Amino acid sequence: MNATTHVSGYPRIGEKRELKQALEAFWSGKLDASGLDGIAKELRLRHWQEQAGLSFAATNDFSLYDGMLDLACTFGAIPERFGPADSPMTLERYFRMARGRSRQGGAPDVVPLELTKWFDTNYHYLVPELQPEQDFRLTWDKAVQETKEAIAAGFRPKPVVIGPVTFLALSKMDGGDPLSLIGRLVPVYRELLEALAEAGAEWVEISEPILASRRDEAVLSGLEAAWDELRPAAPLKLLLGIPFGRLGDALPRVCALGFDGLHVDATRAAADLPWLHANYLQDRVLSLGLIDGRSIWRSDVEVLRALAASFREKQLWLGTSCSLQHVPHRLDAESTLDPVLRSWLSFAKEKIGELLSLAAAQPDPDAGAATRAALASRRAHPGVKIREIREAVARLDQSAANRGRPLEERLKLQRQVLKLPLFPTTTIGSFPQTAEIRRLRARHRKGELDTAGYEAGLDAAMRETIRLQEDLGLDVLVHGEFERTDMVEFFGEMLEGITVTSNGWVQSYGSRCVKPPIIWGDIVRPTPMTVGVSAKAQALTSKLVKGMLTGPITILQWSFVRVDLPRALVALQLALAIRKEVTDLEAAGLRVIQVDEPGLREGLPLDPAERESYLEAAVRAFRVAVAGVRDETQIHTHMCYAEFDDVAGAIAALEADVISLEASRSRMEALHAVTAGGIGSDVGPGVWDIHSPRVPSVEEMTALLERAADVLPAERLWVNPDCGLKTRGWEETKASLENLVAAAKAMRTKT
Ligand code: GLN
Ligand code: ZN
Repeated sequence: MNATTHVSGYPRIGEKRELKQALEAFWSGKLDASGLDGIAKELRLRHWQEQAGLSFAATNDFSLYDGMLDLACTFGAIPERFGPADSPMTLERYFRMARGRSRQGGAPDVVPLELTKWFDTNYHYLVPELQPEQDFRLTWDKAVQETKEAIAAGFRPKPVVIGPVTFLALSKMDGGDPLSLIGRLVPVYRELLEALAEAGAEWVEISEPILASRRDEAVLSGLEAAWDELRPAAPLKLLLGIPFGRLGDALPRVCALGFDGLHVDATRAAADLPWLHANYLQDRVLSLGLIDGRSIWRSDVEVLRALAASFREKQLWLGTSCSLQHVPHRLDAESTLDPVLRSWLSFAKEKIGELLSLAAAQPDPDAGAATRAALASRRAHPGVKIREIREAVARLDQSAANRGRPLEERLKLQRQVLKLPLFPTTTIGSFPQTAEIRRLRARHRKGELDTAGYEAGLDAAMRETIRLQEDLGLDVLVHGEFERTDMVEFFGEMLEGITVTSNGWVQSYGSRCVKPPIIWGDIVRPTPMTVGVSAKAQALTSKLVKGMLTGPITILQWSFVRVDLPRALVALQLALAIRKEVTDLEAAGLRVIQVDEPGLREGLPLDPAERESYLEAAVRAFRVAVAGVRDETQIHTHMCYAEFDDVAGAIAALEADVISLEASRSRMEALHAVTAGGIGSDVGPGVWDIHSPRVPSVEEMTALLERAADVLPAERLWVNPDCGLKTRGWEETKASLENLVAAAKAMRTKT
């Protein structure tokens, strides 16, 4: 075929997370600006070299922190608190926008830009803040410099720039719709394109992922207004890129825009392909993103080749469905993976190889045979389809999702038997994971500390934490989660059918990376996972101890999931595994069990048409996971901050006995949002923002509780922090919890 090939972006953190280390060294003063710059340059060069066989090398996909932040800085959209808009773009200022500055040496607090999820990925971008009279000016030449750098290194660059409509739609603006600024932004955008052309770019990809989630009139007319004005005088070709979803009914309108090429996500927009096949004009480039940038499964290149061949009469390009930044860097760096499982997978570097073999003039028979063998070994693998698991899921009927009595009666019963005071106090699960705990874990992993020594260390931390909670006067205690690095990875390691990688890092935000587990087979819980530690904790105290689990939707949401089984069925398999753990915890004497679901809101599909069925499946999975216990056993769940408005009905339908929510920063707005769904559960709206070391006062927390008591009757309120305390230090933890207990007591005397 010999088609033109390109990717819409490449992982930037580095195969050994070099960027993370460099950033953290820079922030702590151990690396200077030129050192950081040198590492960033080297990473860019290496990543272009890894794209060497492709027709283009993606540029401007690199960032020291985030691409939306880069674009805001490029256009001078810098809020006043970070200094005058026209002052130079220093690293210090750039990172202040990303990370804020805390009160140190007299310098005032500077609140950073808000961090929010990038579409339905686990990547987070910084939200630009715009003004109704926003003045855009080209103030930073980062995109141009990186493009020149690629040319100087011998590559043919294709800069990738977030489009003007996505940029505005994802920005915040007080007093109006940021999309109304399109007329102000586009002339500056055109200047940027001209500068890129002058630097030597022949094509620029303008990426508009917003179309995957919004195709309303405001977005479509914004797009039309932009494209009427966007075309620079310079001879530059523009590729409109639409990752993450389909265009559906908007296809004719989008295709009427004045681009030179359209890049579609052929994995998620497969339903749009027949229309494009029949209607797309011959004189423009059609780029099919056939290699999936969102999954880690090896592509069936021969099937994709046949699909591409059906578009032969078009000017065809081949690419990835989206930037490869959402998958780990390279599979060949995985030393511990089972070789059979490894043959089923493909990370960013391997996906470049797939793209090249897809575009090659002739199919490579050896590669084809290897792919066929890998796919066949997956189908035949005994762990991929386990009869008992499939049957157990098929047997689930309505009653499997229901507890005995209705929620209201259960809560009454639990009040009698658990004998908790009004405004009961608890925490969300984790306690500080200090350097000492992390060292313990690292030494165990490296084999320097045997399992007995490791467990003794964890045990000591747990005992101390139980004592501390007793001394503080908390009502429902936790064991502290010292054995867990991550709430999903821990269960990923314990459950069969899930594998965790040793180096499969994906950037979450800034220097932070996560290592999503891979769900490849049917889920089996071979042994209890948390019963030992929870029972041990309960034996240490006469107070109630809460068992602590991660829920099925969150495990699903934070993993790479198999694509050969509907997600709803994978969720039910996970639910059955968690259900066994829940009932075993109950049998071991735990009377309160928490099943965390912070991933529930995040999983909401971008396409509104898919939301209802997602929520139905999610609610069912949670209910199946917890419905195996007696009515006296109290089931808690927890969710971090999110826009709860769209999911309040689903949260009510979970019918957890108690739910804790992150609510302090929103001054209890989250509680309003959730109760609007008619929730019957008792609620613990967080009164301590655990994202900073600040210790909230008793008065502050009492005031928040009073606000909460305006929304729900006192009998239905719990008192707890916003989230787990894993990232906090002991000192502020003790002080804050002491105040939290005092605030609960103050509320009790008032009612
Ligand atoms: N139980 C978990 C913890 O305390 C919950 C974490 C979360 O909500 N993200 O750390
Ligand atoms: Zn949380």
